[in-house]
Amino acid sequence: MSADVDVVVAGGGPAGLQFAREVATRSEYGVLVLEANGSLSDNDKSTGGTFDQVIERYDVPDDVVMAENEDVVFEAPGASSTLSIPGYVLDFPAFLEFLGEDATAHGAEVRTGARVADPVVENGRVVGVRYWADGEKRRVDADLVVDATGPRAVLAKQLGMFDPDSAQRGIGKEYEVTGRYDLDSMLFRFDHEVAPGGYAWTFPAGDDAFKAGVCWIEDFYERHSLPDDGTIDDYVESWVAADPRWEAQEVRAVHAGDAVSNNSINQRAMDGLVAVGDAVSSINPLFGEGIRPGMQSAEMAANVALAALDRGDTSRERLRVYEDRWNEEKGIQWRIQRIVCELLYDFTPGQQRRFVTSAGRLNDAQVERLQAYDLTVRDYLDLYPFDRSDLGKLPALARHV
Ligand SMILES: Cc1cc2nc3c(=O)[nH]c(=O)nc-3n(C[C@H](O)[C@H](O)[C@H](O)COP(=O)(O)OP(=O)(O)OC[C@H]3O[C@@H](n4cnc5c(N)ncnc54)[C@H](O)[C@@H]3O)c2cc1C
Repeated sequence: MSADVDVVVAGGGPAGLQFAREVATRSEYGVLVLEANGSLSDNDKSTGGTFDQVIERYDVPDDVVMAENEDVVFEAPGASSTLSIPGYVLDFPAFLEFLGEDATAHGAEVRTGARVADPVVENGRVVGVRYWADGEKRRVDADLVVDATGPRAVLAKQLGMFDPDSAQRGIGKEYEVTGRYDLDSMLFRFDHEVAPGGYAWTFPAGDDAFKAGVCWIEDFYERHSLPDDGTIDDYVESWVAADPRWEAQEVRAVHAGDAVSNNSINQRAMDGLVAVGDAVSSINPLFGEGIRPGMQSAEMAANVALAALDRGDTSRERLRVYEDRWNEEKGIQWRIQRIVCELLYDFTPGQQRRFVTSAGRLNDAQVERLQAYDLTVRDYLDLYPFDRSDLGKLPALARHV
């Protein structure tokens, strides 16, 4: 193989940068990350809520963590439950800068202002990418190409691996504000009045600051919003002003973006390419948590890719070990949770209340499994607030099975 670089990664989000870190810290292979934005920190869509499996496993330093919290609170109209799930809130742009700096310190190159346009395919094999930088279209060849372009799925879409246009789309917007926040928790509220077809959240964000946002899934927003409802900003503003447990002074940042997801069982590898993170819908479909699974997909893919590079064989046959592993470890749960998601965001207020109450009754082992999205059939049955109206939804759900 005579490539310009061993590995080229399209997209410098959590998944692409973690892939670059894995390869750069564990091998001598050359890695080039191409990021469309002018700087890594321009990707500031995310609230940055995450867990131990990210902080510990990927050596995330304290200085990019804005807050730690003891538990997660689920709320609905007339119900509130506190689950003992410790969490962390990242300064997301600073976190991305850290990942990029760490990859660079281990020998990777991160090139910003480089927008990947398409894959270079020769004899059915991906051999590189074409990208725009400084007004010019350029080409770089690599033994392995990684699509980590997030929900745009720039390469995976063109290669027919994942079609974001046919996946479920959610949008979210959040204000990061200074002011009083009395909770030591990440709070999620399932309530169509504050977030039709989705949920509202507040997370601590360090001394005298917090983040408050609203997200919804487009299909369910249509069903649960009222015709004269305002914009998502109106909802966020009402939510920020809503509660005596917090008091906002000044909005210091606004984060917004979209997320697309199917059941995550997509083609993840082909000759010369793997796709990680949201470029192949690794985001958890139940709550829209994407940092942890995106980085886990990157680690899983890098393990397989390093072995393939060592053998000088980055064929689909070798790389699909990653795809099989993902499907086995995550895909089956994500597929079930995709279906539960279709129900959860369409719940009646009574079901929202019963769901939150049931969550509060889970035992410690069940809470641990919920945190890891590794639920048993019994756990689902304990959590699920069955309602006769669910029967009418079965035909629509069948397409997800
Ligand atoms: C409002 C909101 C709040 C969220 N809150 C949380 C949360 O609290 N916790 C959590 O775990 N998850 C959260 N998520 C989801 C999480 O942010 C994503 O799942 C995660 O960032 C996915 O990582 P990724 O690396 O796969 O993709 P991305 O973060 O989308 O990164 C992809 C990168 O590729 C770049 N790119 C795109 N196209 C090109 C191109 N053509 N060429 C080169 N580069 C390109 C982009 O600029 C970007 O930097 C949230 C999402 C939204 C929208």
